[in-house]
Amino acid sequence: MTILHLVLGDQLNIQHSHFKKSDPSTIFVMMEVRQETDYVLHHAQKIIAIFAAMRDFAHTLDVSGHRVHYFNIDDPLNTHNITTNLDSLINLYQVDKIIYQAPDEWRIDQQLSAYAREHHLPVEMIDTEHFITQRDEAQHIFKGRKQWLMEFFYRQLRTKHHVLMQDPKTPVDGQWNFDQENRKPWRGKPAVPPDHRSKHDHSVLWASIQKQGVKSFGNPQEKDFRWPLNRTEALLQLEDFITQRLVNYGDYQDAMTHSNWRMFHALISFALNVKMLSPLEVIQRAQYAWQHEKAPIAAVEGFIRQILGWREYVRGIYWAHMPEYVESNALSHHVDLPKWFWTGETKMNCLAKSIGQSLEHAYAHHIQRLMVIGNFALLAGVNPQQVHAWYLGVYIDAFEWVELPNTVGMSQYADHGIMATKPYVSSAAYIDRMSDYCKGCHYDKKVKTGDRACPFNALYWHFYDRHRASFERNPRIGMAYRQLEKMPVETRQALNFQAMSMIKNIDNL
Ligand SMILES: Cc1cc2nc3c(=O)[nH]c(=O)nc-3n(C[C@H](O)[C@H](O)[C@H](O)COP(=O)(O)OP(=O)(O)OC[C@H]3O[C@@H](n4cnc5c(N)ncnc54)[C@H](O)[C@@H]3O)c2cc1C
Ligand code: SF4
Repeated sequence: MTILHLVLGDQLNIQHSHFKKSDPSTIFVMMEVRQETDYVLHHAQKIIAIFAAMRDFAHTLDVSGHRVHYFNIDDPLNTHNITTNLDSLINLYQVDKIIYQAPDEWRIDQQLSAYAREHHLPVEMIDTEHFITQRDEAQHIFKGRKQWLMEFFYRQLRTKHHVLMQDPKTPVDGQWNFDQENRKPWRGKPAVPPDHRSKHDHSVLWASIQKQGVKSFGNPQEKDFRWPLNRTEALLQLEDFITQRLVNYGDYQDAMTHSNWRMFHALISFALNVKMLSPLEVIQRAQYAWQHEKAPIAAVEGFIRQILGWREYVRGIYWAHMPEYVESNALSHHVDLPKWFWTGETKMNCLAKSIGQSLEHAYAHHIQRLMVIGNFALLAGVNPQQVHAWYLGVYIDAFEWVELPNTVGMSQYADHGIMATKPYVSSAAYIDRMSDYCKGCHYDKKVKTGDRACPFNALYWHFYDRHRASFERNPRIGMAYRQLEKMPVETRQALNFQAMSMIKNIDNL
């Protein structure tokens, strides 16, 4: 029996059981297809990283004795569609059966399940052997619950997988969550360790991608490429984080500075999302560092919560609410994405820096994504589908199952509050507290109206004023409405006028 086994670009899990032994009756198929480069406009580094990592992976399979059929982007026999490429190999190899690993994106899941249903050959879906939870596990955990609180889900998983537990029911140090200790601004100290990076030159690959007419944006950095492209490099990246940064991760995970674009963050999301690293091994490595007193519990718990909690949770949200989730627009926001999202050229320093580094490095850390870029888009009423398309294209780690709930749900509150109990919005005060952006800004963080007023201030009050019906009765937002009530009518009118004229003039802020 001859089997074609499809391996997608985000399924580079070399530890998968199907790769353990080479079997001449199995042909692994990998393909660089326009179907995947073109469904959204991508950052150049994202396209390069995925193709380069796929080529590295195919080479590893090949040298370990597996049979591999690889479609390059410029292969004349490449139809640039996953299923027609598969069909083109059936006669060539006299195929009897097709196997694919469970796709993480709805789009491809639909395509391959329809293919399986309609095909004359047996087509079987197998697990990727990557995630800690099943696609529908969140649905079971939250069964009968109105609110899908991440903290509840996270505690269930800590208990089930015995992570940071002192006995089957009690967390270590008797505390589940150390978030309150993890919110310090960074004032230049402690020093951020120099970058560990695996350097690559991808000029040849980049030239062939461009020659095929693939459209992209952002700096390709093709001669000085930084992202890990195989498991060995990903493990080095993880070690760099655990030994050099984890100790300060908790304290400064929300901090932002113009002088360093990654701070104490791990930069492992790409390696995790294409499955070079397993989430469980990353968690165990961090737990081991704490057990050996290399990092404090607050930092280790904070980091583990991101992976065991948030990452698995957003995946559960995605599978429970697709396909309608992608169209969510609970607050009826319709303003067009400002043009400077594609250039970083805005007078607002926080956005210029956060978007600028996203275009330069295909990366911004969580708080830049949530409390600067996402915060502005939500306050200004930008259409969540346009925000989603931008985030899905720009970040190196952006795959719809993880990007969509984070953007449309957590950041834009477009899902009727399934993910967030209140909108993540703030005025300039929060950005100033957590960053050094305001010091170099054209706008004045303290001023609310007039030419030099920081746009976040008036937009913040205007947001709550115009969405009174949605939020007034939310106990977590009561304070904002009490402050609004106390404001003289003229002040409120001036703030609303300022905000509306800024939204009208959004491309020139
Ligand atoms: C609007 C918005 C969009 C986002 N889009 C993506 C995305 O497309 N892909 C993506 O992987 N993450 C996304 N995130 C989550 C988070 O910002 C990134 O995972 C993180 O910045 C990746 O960098 P790091 O590896 O240095 O992370 P670290 O800060 O070092 O965190 C460690 C790991 O925790 C996981 N993690 C942390 N927060 C989240 C989260 N909210 N959801 C899922 N995993 C999380 C990631 O795997 C990350 O690698 C988004 C967050 C927001 C607010
Ligand atoms: S003043 Fe306002 S626009 Fe400028 S950096 Fe601070 S928060 Fe951003």
